[in-house]
Amino acid sequence: MSEVKAYGAADSEADLKQMSIERREVKPRDVKIKITYCGVCHSDIHTVRNDWGNSMYPAVPGHEIIGEVLEVGSEVTDFKVGQTVGVGCMVDSCRECEPCKHDLEQFCEKGMVGTYNGKDKHLGGHTFGGYSEEIIVDHYYVLSVPENLDTKAVAPLLCAGITTFSPLNHWKVGKGDKVGVIGLGGLGHMGIKFAHAMGAHVVMITTSPEKAEDAKRLGADEVLISKDEDAMKKHRGSFDFLLNTVPVAHDINPYLQLLKIDSTMCMVGAIEPLPDVHGGNLIMGRKNVAGSLIGGIKETQEMLDFCGEHDVVSDIELIDINTINEAYERVVNGDVKYRFVIDMESLRNAN
Ligand code: NAP
Ligand code: ZN
Ligand code: ZN
Repeated sequence: MSEVKAYGAADSEADLKQMSIERREVKPRDVKIKITYCGVCHSDIHTVRNDWGNSMYPAVPGHEIIGEVLEVGSEVTDFKVGQTVGVGCMVDSCRECEPCKHDLEQFCEKGMVGTYNGKDKHLGGHTFGGYSEEIIVDHYYVLSVPENLDTKAVAPLLCAGITTFSPLNHWKVGKGDKVGVIGLGGLGHMGIKFAHAMGAHVVMITTSPEKAEDAKRLGADEVLISKDEDAMKKHRGSFDFLLNTVPVAHDINPYLQLLKIDSTMCMVGAIEPLPDVHGGNLIMGRKNVAGSLIGGIKETQEMLDFCGEHDVVSDIELIDINTINEAYERVVNGDVKYRFVIDMESLRNAN
């Protein structure tokens, strides 16, 4: 075992601060990674603040990890020392159940092991994420990063990227489709970029009129302000697919009215009870509400390769780890363009 520096919260009320955590020894199938960058996902904040009621403490978040391979175990042949790699939201699963066999490890019947707040079967206790100097991960859950991309802007692809790519891919969004992305934050900005790269006509659906210009720069063809009832009426019944990234419970009825017959709105943001859905909004038009959770390891690699081919990365603001608590406030207030990424040198250099 080795001790490394990390940043975490002692309980749901506490700010994040520097602490020391233990990492396991490198086992034959493991890759030891020096973390260079880590994205800040809204899920990190939900976990630190125990919004979902299942947080374990100390909580060391971070599941948008980019790093450099420091060491590989004796059985690892797919990664080499010095290579740039990524780790996303999962570090283990059973690999035997039906979902695992079908590359859907995120739905593992025995429960996938989250990169943080998961059950640590090696050291006991719970897993610690990427707000740390190093991490040791089974090679199966380590991703290759295309060499042509700016690595710090790749970090958010490991969660925000795959979470938006997977539903767009699953529902086969492409040329000729009118696609709405609801909520322009970390996930939403990647949703626009992917839907645009896939050839769809993209409409950014936002509560923030001041984000309109950015939305267009990111690839949106149109911007729809969800608070503008007249504008919402004009788009009624016209969308082939909606990707809903709103992070909190909200009334989805106005969005359902935007869908065409037989079309789907996929929820990825609000993992909590939603207010009532009017049956008429589903029945009239045979409409679907669906959900999606990150993506499997194979699809995550496909997403990264797609990004390499189409030159897609995240728009980021690079921060030092000692400003993380302010960064959380800014995410909650929607004041980030469009993902914070922590420069992990700032942790290595901290006393
Ligand atoms: P974020 O950066 O905070 O962005 C969320 C955006 O949603 C905001 O910028 C805002 O956009 C809009 N919004 C916020 N509150 C709203 C409200 N009350 N009503 C309508 N719109 C609202 O968050 P994120 O990192 O993208 O994460 C979004 C959610 O996805 C989080 O809850 C996170 O936990 C979850 N998540 C899920 C998965 C999964 O696998 N399903 C994976 C990662 C994250 P506008 O200003 O444009 O309206
Ligand atoms: Zn995330
Ligand atoms: Zn499984």
